[in-house]
Amino acid sequence: FSMIQRETGFISGLVVVLHDVTEQQKNDRERRQFVSNVSHELRTPLTSVRSYIEALNDGAWQDPELAPKFLKVTQDETDRMIRMINDLLALSRLDMGTSKIDMETINLNEFFNYILNRFDMMLQTDNEHAGESRHGFVDDQEQPHKQYTINREITKRSLWVDVDQDKFMQVVDNIMNNAIKYSPDGGTITARLVETNNHVILSVSDQGLGIPAKDINHVFERFYRVDKARSRKQGGTGLGLAISKEVIEAMGGRIWVDSEEGKGSTFYISLPYEAIADEGDDWDEA
Ligand code: ADP
Repeated sequence: FSMIQRETGFISGLVVVLHDVTEQQKNDRERRQFVSNVSHELRTPLTSVRSYIEALNDGAWQDPELAPKFLKVTQDETDRMIRMINDLLALSRLDMGTSKIDMETINLNEFFNYILNRFDMMLQTDNEHAGESRHGFVDDQEQPHKQYTINREITKRSLWVDVDQDKFMQVVDNIMNNAIKYSPDGGTITARLVETNNHVILSVSDQGLGIPAKDINHVFERFYRVDKARSRKQGGTGLGLAISKEVIEAMGGRIWVDSEEGKGSTFYISLPYEAIADEGDDWDEA
């Protein structure tokens, strides 16, 4: 600040300029944190890939038991890094507003059923191949494919809503995959679709781990996981829900979660909705 001083030496005024630095500091801090998170998240798989390659190089490549296992780990970790980079690029496009949102009006009931059919289909194919090893060798690290039942409570009324189909499908896939990933074998997943006055609400409930109260407000943050080790082991990037939130908000909707630790979680997505007036209403001539 500066003082306005007369020749006489008396201070006759005070000019104070206040910049709101707190908001800027917060953004800077978040950005630094983000860069640090990205570096850390990529260093972990890279370090692990390096040590497996070193072991192969040191002779493990000749071991018919170990070699395929080690190669599988390097492949899985590389795949996860690629997924992470793709997720980061998607987030960055959403951040910069360069991600084009292609809204079209769709029948949400059909769309939701279509997605759920895909998950039911995956279950069937898994069952047909049960017992077969996908890679021709026994890998005790490999998670057996989970069994689950999808229970549908979907309104029969056609709900026409505006969404970007591709992006919306990624969001629902992500929520469904999480419901399976964070549930024990044999759980039931309940998929619901209801309408309110001016919204449709789609939800997915599981009977899984649930989310502890202290974490629940953070799961939509980038890289936030309740259990990092578990998430990584299952191929998670910790970015799925952060992307989902950006996408849903870009479409004018909201996403949130309700959960009880040890009992299960329900993820909700609400989207703006206008009931289509019955045919003829528009032609009411007085
Ligand atoms: P990730 O790749 O780790 O699954 P997400 O962004 O999709 O990343 O989810 C963030 C975190 O939220 C997960 O690591 C997990 O701890 C928690 N989470 C997400 N969905 C569920 C669920 N259905 N049940 C329990 N925890 C969940």
